[in-house]
Amino acid sequence: MKFRSLKGTRDILPDETERWQQVEQVIHRVLKNFNYNEIRTPVLETTALFSRSIGELTDIVSKEMYTFTDRSGESVTLRPEGTAAALRAYIQNNLGEQGSLAKLYYIGPMFRQERPQAGRLRQFHQFGAEAIGSAAPELDVEMMLIALQIYEDLGISNTRLFINSVGCEQCRPYYKELLTQELLKLKDKLSSDSQSRIQHNPLRVLDSKDENDKALTAGLPLMKDHLCAECSGHFAEVQRFLQSLNVQLSIDGRLVRGLDYYTKTAFEITSSDLGSQDALAGGGRYDLLVKELGGKPTPGTGFAAGIERLMMALGKKGSALIPAVRPRIFLIGLDTASRSWAFVKTCKLRRQGIPAETDYSERSLKAQLREANRQQAQFVVIVGGQELQSGSAKLKNMRSGEEVTVSLDALEQSLK
Ligand code: AMP
Repeated sequence: MKFRSLKGTRDILPDETERWQQVEQVIHRVLKNFNYNEIRTPVLETTALFSRSIGELTDIVSKEMYTFTDRSGESVTLRPEGTAAALRAYIQNNLGEQGSLAKLYYIGPMFRQERPQAGRLRQFHQFGAEAIGSAAPELDVEMMLIALQIYEDLGISNTRLFINSVGCEQCRPYYKELLTQELLKLKDKLSSDSQSRIQHNPLRVLDSKDENDKALTAGLPLMKDHLCAECSGHFAEVQRFLQSLNVQLSIDGRLVRGLDYYTKTAFEITSSDLGSQDALAGGGRYDLLVKELGGKPTPGTGFAAGIERLMMALGKKGSALIPAVRPRIFLIGLDTASRSWAFVKTCKLRRQGIPAETDYSERSLKAQLREANRQQAQFVVIVGGQELQSGSAKLKNMRSGEEVTVSLDALEQSLK
């Protein structure tokens, strides 16, 4: 019997992990520049954490979660996103002590049982940040800037930023009612998905991908035009900061994210280099969520970004990435004694921090040279009985072809 990876999951193979690590380095660096600290939470959490925060009636919770009963009878779920767990950890570990602002980031796998397609997987990876403990519009802007900076540093240029405001508990109920009345007039003509959303989440009808729905709802009132004074002031501030930083933005009054917890700012970053799944990142403010999860009322804001999508947008680009580490030297032994010497020397060089490699399978000189070439080793040293005896050998620069005689004992120094 042959085993295969599950549908919608994939192996990230050695020829790709190099890139993943480099991209991850950029992610860590930019987030640290913005003064965020990494948090690593379990991938498995109690199911209620997600249904409570993301919302029972959202697609994620109602259709996509990997939920099962464990052996002790508890309902547990593989995390479909990162915010709920970060907030759980924030509350559980008192990270907001003395009212300080907690700036957290994460990176890791998420799980959603969606219909797999290009750019949409069942196990995928996200990085994201959360700033918990402040209602300032500056922090909403900071979220957008972090994501944009990471794309810029990686050389991903065709990005667009869309922003909206989804209101708060003051203004949203009034607008929801208004929208519901309008949608009910169109009910029979809308797609069945949209029909069922009218009652529990009318805002999402505006976000429908169905062309007919889009045309029908084109002239309907938008939340951004019905904000209370506070929300509208906040939204104006977000735009003002983005403008003073010369960040290009588009206001999209129909942008509603697929998670229920957002208040005020919502945003999305897309790339025109991607196909139909063009969203690179999304986020927004969630001022009620900490309280919803049992903490003290604390405002917060955050974003999450898909790494597979980032990789697709990166494509063949990524010139800014640091070159991969290749063996600096490949040690070739020609007989049993020299092979032993080569292995021990390889280990000693590595101990000195010099990337070194040798042959482990008694291959011929020709085969070993081919292997050194394949691995793009910078130098090769060939050692046989004679070299061991004299304590010196030729060090060959594989790029220039130049050869110099070096002392075997002082190989470290010669390489350094
Ligand atoms: P969300 O958590 O739904 O707001 O998604 C944030 C970002 O994660 C999206 O913009 C995508 O880049 C990425 N993402 C979400 N779902 C998937 C998925 N099933 N497969 C790959 N990437 C995803």
